Amino acid sequence: MLRALLSLLTLSAATGDNCASASPNIVVVGWSCMDMISYVPALPAAGETLAGSRFSLGYGGKGANQAVQAAKLGSRVAMVTKVGDDLHGNSTIRNFEAHGVAISHVSRGPPGVSHGVAPITVDQSSGENSIVIVLGAGGLLSPEDVRKAQPAFAEAGRPPGGVLLAQLEVPLETTLEALSLARAADLTTVLNTAPAPSQGLPDALWPLVDIVVANEPELAALAAAPTATNADVEAAAAVLLARGARSVLVTLGPRGCALFNASEAPVFVSAPRVVAPRDTTGAGDAFLGAFAHHLSSGAAIKTALRRANECAAASVEREGTQSSYESAASLAA
Ligand code: ADP
Repeated sequence: MLRALLSLLTLSAATGDNCASASPNIVVVGWSCMDMISYVPALPAAGETLAGSRFSLGYGGKGANQAVQAAKLGSRVAMVTKVGDDLHGNSTIRNFEAHGVAISHVSRGPPGVSHGVAPITVDQSSGENSIVIVLGAGGLLSPEDVRKAQPAFAEAGRPPGGVLLAQLEVPLETTLEALSLARAADLTTVLNTAPAPSQGLPDALWPLVDIVVANEPELAALAAAPTATNADVEAAAAVLLARGARSVLVTLGPRGCALFNASEAPVFVSAPRVVAPRDTTGAGDAFLGAFAHHLSSGAAIKTALRRANECAAASVEREGTQSSYESAASLAA
């Protein structure tokens, strides 16, 4: 099956590597939140109050990050998410608009339900962190909300190359609905298995996914297998392929990524070497957003993987999440 996808991608690769103007179409169904990061000398113990040295507020949520990365590279992106009817919900919408992400299918949560937030405490001496996640309005994104966004799926499916990007931060039934609608609309379905589900995923999900994208800990959790070596990673990916996924793409941190499917030899693609990584937060999302951008632009699959590695590696060189992502303009410069 991947062979068919590959040849489709290769056939349309004439549009080139960097297709900001080619109007690719991506639908992202996922969570958006506000990251609230405090930098402290040590993680506080229970009941302790301590002075932090710095605070920063950033836009986050895997879905939102992936949408913004793809849009920054020039993709036409429709976001399906639910924001709080509050200050952070408002500024999240403004952030989508500032990046050219379409907000027609961004809905509001009910009054009294906050926007999603992720208060993060970072120990400056060790780099260790502790994170609290409050899903808030984004946790209420429902299958019905996804069905209301069907016109975006249909529009993205009209020209060849449309992509759905989904993750596991919103309720599972919502992700399943998104995958089903995307399949019906002829989109390539990409599921990022983050965060790793504690109880596995239902059998019905796997056949709806064209490309499963997992980092090593997620792959290990899903396959219940080690991922210490490349051979381990290949064996663990085979477990997911046997469940019905058409292909499995594993991100390997500084080592880049690897793509597996049942009928082709594995494809390992190295990431550019980053001498002094500064902040790996959101690197996986940069990878996903850039991969979807290049996939929907008609790039050959190996090119899409190489470009995704390049964008993710660039994000690691800079502090911040969305602010650290490459854009069509920064690439051109
Ligand atoms: P996650 O951020 O989800 O944990 P990974 O750690 O696998 O996922 O990183 C995602 C991608 O980011 C990698 O596939 C690679 O392209 C890039 N990347 C991450 N860390 C580095 C690094 N130290 N040097 C270069 N690229 C990196």
